[in-house]
Amino acid sequence: MSDHRIPLAAVIGSPIAHSRSPKLHQHWLNVHGLAGYYIPMDIASDDLERVIRMMPRMGFVGCNVTIPYKEKVMKVADQVTDRATLIGAANTLIFRTDGSIMADNTDGYGFIENLRQGAPGWDAKAGTAVVLGAGGAARAVVAALADAGCPRILLTNRTRVRAEKLKDDFGKRIEVHDWVQAGNILEEAALVVNTTSLGMTGKPELRVPLDGLRKGTVVTDLVYSPLRTRLLAEAEAADCITVDGLGMLLHQAVPCFERWFGQRPVVDAATREAALR
Ligand code: NAP
Repeated sequence: MSDHRIPLAAVIGSPIAHSRSPKLHQHWLNVHGLAGYYIPMDIASDDLERVIRMMPRMGFVGCNVTIPYKEKVMKVADQVTDRATLIGAANTLIFRTDGSIMADNTDGYGFIENLRQGAPGWDAKAGTAVVLGAGGAARAVVAALADAGCPRILLTNRTRVRAEKLKDDFGKRIEVHDWVQAGNILEEAALVVNTTSLGMTGKPELRVPLDGLRKGTVVTDLVYSPLRTRLLAEAEAADCITVDGLGMLLHQAVPCFERWFGQRPVVDAATREAALR
């Protein structure tokens, strides 16, 4: 086997054709003048482990993982980072030179960095966060907020038991509220995060009443298709500071690219443009 292989990376999931990650990573490879390729791979569930085990032998240095395999890949990995274990899902695999596979989760990092860039005055320690939804993405968001020192997290989800499970896993700072009360807890928020899939193209709208939103509250949506969701449009009209979900996708990719290709990329206007192209 040659020592001078061109490094390959991928995003694996099913379906995968919609993914913006190949354009994003290819843009950074070009910016840094690096040889390498990043491809989308649609893999059947039954083939997942076999394909992942083969990838390092084919020249892959790692891959991103998306729906529906974020939990399943944890069983394939030889090592799982503490944060991926806590979240219960991985979005990144690193193929090490000794042949071992490490699973990590960079979604929470991407979430926080997106807020730092999009709402520079926001400080996790300064106030209450309201998190709408308690699915996989919410687990990464809540873990990251707790880690960043957020003192109080009000969590609400259509299926309450899922929110209660998150509280059990992440501790006392979390208060669970009924989904029908979502509108009533917004006035306490310094930060509001939509982690549900509501508002996404092809899904129903998020119908939480927003009249309680205070001026200056930071509002962010993990949904980035469309880029400007109804939540963000209404929050902007209420003089809130809004941050779209594309930035989270871009920022979560930074540590992945650095680990695989050895250079730390920046998220700037050209990066956004490349991902949206
Ligand atoms: P998931 O695990 O399937 O969770 C979906 C969430 O949406 C759950 O809280 C679910 O509530 C809620 N939901 C779905 N339909 C609903 C409805 N009709 N009414 C009320 N609540 C509803 O999905 P996920 O992986 O967490 O992803 C959630 C969203 O985040 C997706 O749009 C995804 O694309 C986005 N995301 C974005 C990024 C980024 O980088 N920007 C990263 C990760 C995810 P129940 O528990 O009651 O079903």
